[in-house]
Amino acid sequence: MTQQQTERIDGKAIAAEVLEICRQRCAEFKGRGGPPSLAVVRVGEDPASRVYVRGKLRAAAKVGIQASEHHLEATATQQEVEATVRALAADDAVDGILVQLPLPRHLHEGAILGLVPTDKDVDGFGVESLGALVAGLPGLRACTPAGVMTLLDHAFAARGETLRGKRALVIGRSRIVGKPMALLLLAADATVTIAHSKSADLAAEVGRADVVVAAAGVPHLVRGEWLAPGAVVIDVGIHRRDDGSLCGDVDTDSAEGIAAAITPVPGGVGPMTIATLMRNTVEAAVRRRGESADV
Ligand code: NAP
Repeated sequence: MTQQQTERIDGKAIAAEVLEICRQRCAEFKGRGGPPSLAVVRVGEDPASRVYVRGKLRAAAKVGIQASEHHLEATATQQEVEATVRALAADDAVDGILVQLPLPRHLHEGAILGLVPTDKDVDGFGVESLGALVAGLPGLRACTPAGVMTLLDHAFAARGETLRGKRALVIGRSRIVGKPMALLLLAADATVTIAHSKSADLAAEVGRADVVVAAAGVPHLVRGEWLAPGAVVIDVGIHRRDDGSLCGDVDTDSAEGIAAAITPVPGGVGPMTIATLMRNTVEAAVRRRGESADV
């Protein structure tokens, strides 16, 4: 087998392009009811959540989205968290609401997410947003899978190809990544397989795929030697090792020379998730204010 150079799909650079478009769109809001606004609800002191929220607020400030953080103590009651989300839902000045997950275990996540109005559901996690995706209707799409689609579009466009007819394997079937990911790939005319923890032979499924999206949450689950030569690989997983470094669900080193292209961890899907949140916030503002959405 001839070894090929494996391209790194630069999530940071592609995210920067998306953020620049958002910045230009935000500038157009001047004098028209103020910039798009995003409210982030964070409950408790989960260190990863604090880092993620900081990154989102920083990106918002950079593009000109007016972002606010609504932080509640880890001991906040269901009623207190619901009251916060209800107030943001009723506030006409708020275009997008994001409830940072995970919530402390004593809180009912579904009930809280259910209070985010569909037109402000910039995370795309709500039942109506997901239903719109299933039905093929317009709506705000979950940020990580939508960001992965942007990365795939870039990777295939660079080869003069599209996803149409490609065999795509999604590893993971969560509500926020795996399932919407599979539906977005299907909408792009890929032939989609979903693998999960009960799948019989993951290696064989990986070996049949032109596109692999790994979102299992298991460090280095996917071995390079499982891949079909020339596969395009998106690594959604993110794990902190004992030495503080990050790794994904794919053993990137063993994929070298086999995959055509792969996203690095960090610097792949993570920056695109944040950029897509910004795009969704601008889109929510455009839609709520009755203009056509084209960012
Ligand atoms: P999740 O809710 O834990 O779902 C994991 C999915 O993977 C489940 O469907 C599970 O199957 C499946 N799975 C687990 N072990 C497997 C195995 N050995 N073989 C095949 N499938 C297996 O996780 P998630 O929220 O979707 O997130 C997945 C990963 O992406 C995590 O590492 C998370 O940190 C990362 N993530 C990154 C970003 C980003 O912006 N970079 C955003 C979101 C998530 P069952 O359904 O059978 O249990």
